[in-house]
Amino acid sequence: MSPATKPTPAAKTRPTTQRATKAAKPKKRKRARPDPVVAWSRRMARYRPGLVDFTLDELAERYGRPVWERRLDPTSELILTILTQNTADTNAEVAFERLRAAYPSGLPVEVHRPGEGWGGRGLADGAPPDWVRVEMAPIEELMDVIRPAGIATQKAPRIQASLRKIREERGDHSLEFLGEMTAREARDWLTGINGVAKKTASVVLLFCFGLPLVPIDRHVERVLKRVGLLPAKAIDDLSHEIALALIEPDRSYEAHVNLIRHGRLVCHARNPAHELCPLRDRCRFVNPKAP
Ligand code: SF4
Repeated sequence: MSPATKPTPAAKTRPTTQRATKAAKPKKRKRARPDPVVAWSRRMARYRPGLVDFTLDELAERYGRPVWERRLDPTSELILTILTQNTADTNAEVAFERLRAAYPSGLPVEVHRPGEGWGGRGLADGAPPDWVRVEMAPIEELMDVIRPAGIATQKAPRIQASLRKIREERGDHSLEFLGEMTAREARDWLTGINGVAKKTASVVLLFCFGLPLVPIDRHVERVLKRVGLLPAKAIDDLSHEIALALIEPDRSYEAHVNLIRHGRLVCHARNPAHELCPLRDRCRFVNPKAP
């Protein structure tokens, strides 16, 4: 027998059927990781039933049920929201007014409604800026115009990139088409713009079209985490998805506005006024075993 055909010692001693059985042995299956949104929603339903309604009902009792009303056209809302990033709403308003003055469009005047939950003084009524001129402006000039909103070196390129993306995809700067989409489709479209995160996209879609999204800003996040409706360590994306799963679509606007109010007026980052809070009986921040 040539060396090429000589059987190995193992093959010589092990019967063929035994080898086949060993080869067919099924591999151990890895357990699929549960969807964290589904897992959290189930946990809430099982261990803290009724907590969402309790929270929203108590806040509505305290602050009323705000009624949705459009406050700006969606392109203006997007740019104003970019301007509010990491600064006070009042500073963003000053910067937006300066955009209107520096790049006037001659379009019809918009009546600006500050909207409940908005922390600024409110824009004066006026036409939106000429977005073509804003997009094409020399970057140094645009930075100077929006300087009151802070971090102009980041915001000016972000604003121009956003306007460019909208124009390249749609042929002009209008975002009115988003109102024809579902909430998630519209949010996906907006977050496809570099630098537009879920929070910014949700603000635009909720305030301009009343689409059922819950923007998680710092006040909303703080109250929801303290009460225990969001996991303490949830990061932005997960928080948005859990809030969408827990809050009924027809209460999204009310939830967003009242949670912001509560965060500003009572549940402060430092020294929250527990004694004034209608949520304290079920708040895990004051009682880790609250129902
Ligand atoms: S009880 Fe205190 S920590 Fe809890 S939601 Fe109210 S103010 Fe915030």
